[in-house]
Amino acid sequence: MMKDKVVIVGAGFVGATSAYALMMSGVAEEIVMIDANHDKAEGEVMDLNHGILFVPSIQIRTGDYSDCKDARLIIITAGSNQKPGESRMDLLKRNASIFEDIISQIKKYITDAIVLVVTNPVDVLTHFTLKISGLPPSRVIGSGTVLDSSRFRFLLSRHCGVDARNVHAYIIGEHGDSEVPVWSLADIAGMPIDKYCMQCGRQCARDEKDKIFEEVKNSAYNIIAKKGATYYAVGLAVRRIAEAILRNENSVLTISTLVDNYYGISDVCISLPVLVNGQGAARLLKIPVNEQELDSLKRSAEKIKEATDQLYSA
Ligand code: NAD
Repeated sequence: MMKDKVVIVGAGFVGATSAYALMMSGVAEEIVMIDANHDKAEGEVMDLNHGILFVPSIQIRTGDYSDCKDARLIIITAGSNQKPGESRMDLLKRNASIFEDIISQIKKYITDAIVLVVTNPVDVLTHFTLKISGLPPSRVIGSGTVLDSSRFRFLLSRHCGVDARNVHAYIIGEHGDSEVPVWSLADIAGMPIDKYCMQCGRQCARDEKDKIFEEVKNSAYNIIAKKGATYYAVGLAVRRIAEAILRNENSVLTISTLVDNYYGISDVCISLPVLVNGQGAARLLKIPVNEQELDSLKRSAEKIKEATDQLYSA
């Protein structure tokens, strides 16, 4: 039987924090870290291993691309991160050439693993990975708006004073400036959010929803301006996706996957609620968004597509 082995390519802030979150979850038997800066990978592995006594049994080591052979999950976090004020799209060209290198190595060894792309701009790089790897779409996924949906649920939870686990709401579309909040399907205790608001009776200002969404959308910019990078929450989002895959959970997560005629949207990797299990992206769920949300989703898809096309025509 295949081991629950996870290869993480990129031992920077996001890769190392994802490894840290994963080692604490107990879901993986082995984590292998690869980085172009081998010392960085070694240093992170040493630091993580020194805490191994305090977590469920696991092996953590540095490795090389031949480790992809018997991996169940390959997580790519390598690349540059956003500089203050830089948009995710600006990162594209720099990170695409890094990906060409990495995917050509992975391709030599991969057997059954799922590939999870975290590097930004994640939607375009997921499409790029799919294209150059030749893997089936179910096995190449992006972390997409899993983090953004978590930020959304946290902010709603804090605003409403309700446990985030009882607030269900999704951010779909691009992991970036054109992402879309699905207010029409947001619920608390199974109730549409507007019904909950009527019961709550706080009579919040009309623009409260806009403010909450703006905060979600600008989270990365705000954190990067204050501390230079974001990594804790994304590390936990990566762990959540890894668990859904390694435990074959059929969890609904807003990962980025290739869509084909989703309300007319095709040939773009974009985040939507997807059933995630041991096969990767097992089923894309067609959610009944309203007209305004659908318009925004289509605009978001256009934006990703433009960037994807730009990359291929460069
Ligand atoms: P970082 O600079 O700390 O780490 C990147 C690492 O990649 C470095 O250690 C570098 O040596 C390594 N690397 C570069 N080229 C490589 C190659 N060819 N092969 C192997 N390793 C290579 O950056 P970070 O803060 O960890 O961010 C990594 C990426 O994650 C960025 O693109 C960032 O925007 C993205 N990110 C995504 C999300 C999300 O929700 N999807 C959230 C936060 C950050």
